[in-house]
Parts: sequence; C-alpha cells; structure tokens
Amino acid sequence: MSVKYVKGSLAVVHNGNLVNTEELRTQFEYQGAIFQTTSDTEIIAYAIARERLSAPSVEEAVKRALPRLKGAFSLIVMSPRKLIAARDPWGFRPLCIGRRGDAILFASESCALDAVGAEYLREVEPGEIVVVEDGKLRSIRDNCQGMSHLCIFEYIYFARPDSVICGQSVHEARINAGRLLWEQRPTEADLVIGVPDSGLDAALGYARASGIPFGEGFVKNRYVGRTFITPNQEDREAAVRIKLGALRDSVAGKRVVMVDDSIVRGTTCKAIISLLRKAGATEVHMRITAPEFIAPCYFGTDIPNKEKLISCRHTPEEIARISGADSLEFLSMENLYKLAPDAKCGFCDGCFTERYPLEIPRSHLDAPVTTCG
Ligand code: SF4
Repeated sequence: MSVKYVKGSLAVVHNGNLVNTEELRTQFEYQGAIFQTTSDTEIIAYAIARERLSAPSVEEAVKRALPRLKGAFSLIVMSPRKLIAARDPWGFRPLCIGRRGDAILFASESCALDAVGAEYLREVEPGEIVVVEDGKLRSIRDNCQGMSHLCIFEYIYFARPDSVICGQSVHEARINAGRLLWEQRPTEADLVIGVPDSGLDAALGYARASGIPFGEGFVKNRYVGRTFITPNQEDREAAVRIKLGALRDSVAGKRVVMVDDSIVRGTTCKAIISLLRKAGATEVHMRITAPEFIAPCYFGTDIPNKEKLISCRHTPEEIARISGADSLEFLSMENLYKLAPDAKCGFCDGCFTERYPLEIPRSHLDAPVTTCG
C-alpha cells in the first residue's frame, strides 16, 4: 500500500497479522485518523507516518512505531530515497536479504532471490531493521529481544521447496517429515503419493524410507489457487474437485499411502480420498506431515477457531472414518521438531499446542480468525 502524507510518500508491504489491530485502530481514530480499509498494513503505514512528524528520519520513525505493533510482521517500507526492511521481534514470518550487482533485495523466501539471479546474503533477524540508502546497508538492532519463533508451518506448507529458511532447506524438511511418518507407523502398501504441492516431497521421503514405490496420484489444475485460503466451505470443496484429478492408471487396484500437509476442517481430505476411491484405489492410508491443529493461528495463517477444527471434535480414528480413509497418522509433536534439524532458529507451534509466543489480547481471542491482511 502507498500513502501520501505531510513528509512525502511511503509504500509499505506486510506479511503476517497483528493481534492488537483493533486497539491501535481505536487509539488512532480517537486521535483523528480515518482509515480506508480494514487491513493491518494501513495501520502500520499510519503508525510510521505519524511518528515521522517528529522523527528525524524515516528509519527512526519505523523504529519508534514498531514497538507498538504486536504480532507477526515482516515489512518492507519504501520512501523516495530509502528501502527499509523490518521483522517483528518474535520472528514469525521469514525475511531474507539478497544482492544482485549493486542492488539490495528483500524477499520472504530465498527462491525469489534465485528467480531474479540474486545472491542470498542472510536473514533479517527478529526485531532487526535493515536500511538501504545509496546502495549501502545499515542495521538497527534496538528492537531485537533475542527471541526466535519462526512459524514451523512454513516448512510444512507455506514455503516453496527450493527455499532455504534459517539455514534449513524446505525440501529436506519435507523429506524428513515423510521419513518420520514412516518410522512412526510403518504401513504395507503398493504406492506412495503426495497431495500437490506440499505433500509431494514428503511422499518422496516416505517412499525412500519405506521402499514402497513413489508415484503420481493426482493431476493438478495449474490455474486454481490454494484451497486452504479459499474463504467459504462450499467454494473450498468445489475448488478441490476443480483443482485435482486422480490418476486412474496409477492408483487403480493399489493400496495407497497418501501424504498431505495438514487437516483443518476435514472437508478437503474427504473430497480427495473420494477421488482416489473412484479411481479404483483399494486402500487409502492418510499420512499428515503436521500434528493435529487444536487451536487457531493469530499470526497470518488461516487456521480458524476451534469449533471449525475437526481435530478439536474428533479423534484421528474418527477423522479417518469420516474422511473415508483406512488409516490416519499425524506427525507427532516429538517428530515435528526433528523435521528441521538444520534450522538456526526457534519455532512457534501455537496452533498445535495452544501455547503462543505472546499473549493474545482478549478482543482478538473472541474475534473470528481470518486470512492475513
Ligand atoms: S500458530 Fe501455527 S500457523 Fe500460526 S504462526 Fe504459530 S505455528 Fe505458524
């Protein structure tokens, strides 16, 4: 989003979700602010622009504004002369720095740097502000608090497998998750398949560890987005049917292990298993590369309130029955921490444990959880 204010113009991009948006919005509105949108990004832009009125520089304004923000934010702020990147002190969402020639680049994932031929330099640290001016890079660490709570779901679902986050290859993390699932519950089968995209690498890991052949079980329609963040249930179910087709030649007459990244409401996996059954699979064993979701996410992942989470109402055996699977296994909490052995950071696992790295304001706990803004 870009804004014009008395000191000029600012552009702000933001990945994550704040948990004190309502509190900030009310405070600012009482001071005369008028907001055009409901997005966190506008609140952040306003907080920075307001501080800039008394701050000697835009980076000082960013430094003064950020301690008011609670929650997940990886930010890029651009003024006419400066590019500023900042990460919340908990480090929920990734943000890395690259260089191409004289240019400094910032991206959530290292694969974006590869895409433009840039060299990866390092991660922006939790709480760090990095300022680029006249091609030179400066770091402000006043807001760093020594915390580290990267969203562990980045490795399981969000990130692209060709990215490296905090020193851990995402591809390797998913291979590890597949292997760990096999070790947790070895299962006899004829074929291992993954649900595209994030289940594919994990299925390969499962197949390598088990010796069961890896194959393609689905054809993916490349023109449909992620069903996980489609807003309502009807759309989500229809999107699954449009998005995936089962490969009859591959699965007919076979006992299939199907690896997927997570189960949220249970509607998607039911639709996917039904596709496999119709294509002739004789058994479907569902293996999930995350533990059970037992609590919502307040930091930018669309994991809804407890009443919508199937694992809050049913045991794995019941979910298997409801979904039409012959068996179901979630990655254990113990193994969750083994999937990223090279990561040089700590993790948030709030949606699996209901223990969050920061206190969630009462007003936010009661509000319906929505996709990040
Ligand atoms: S609650 Fe879950 S999805 Fe949200 S940031 Fe933490 S680990 Fe990630």
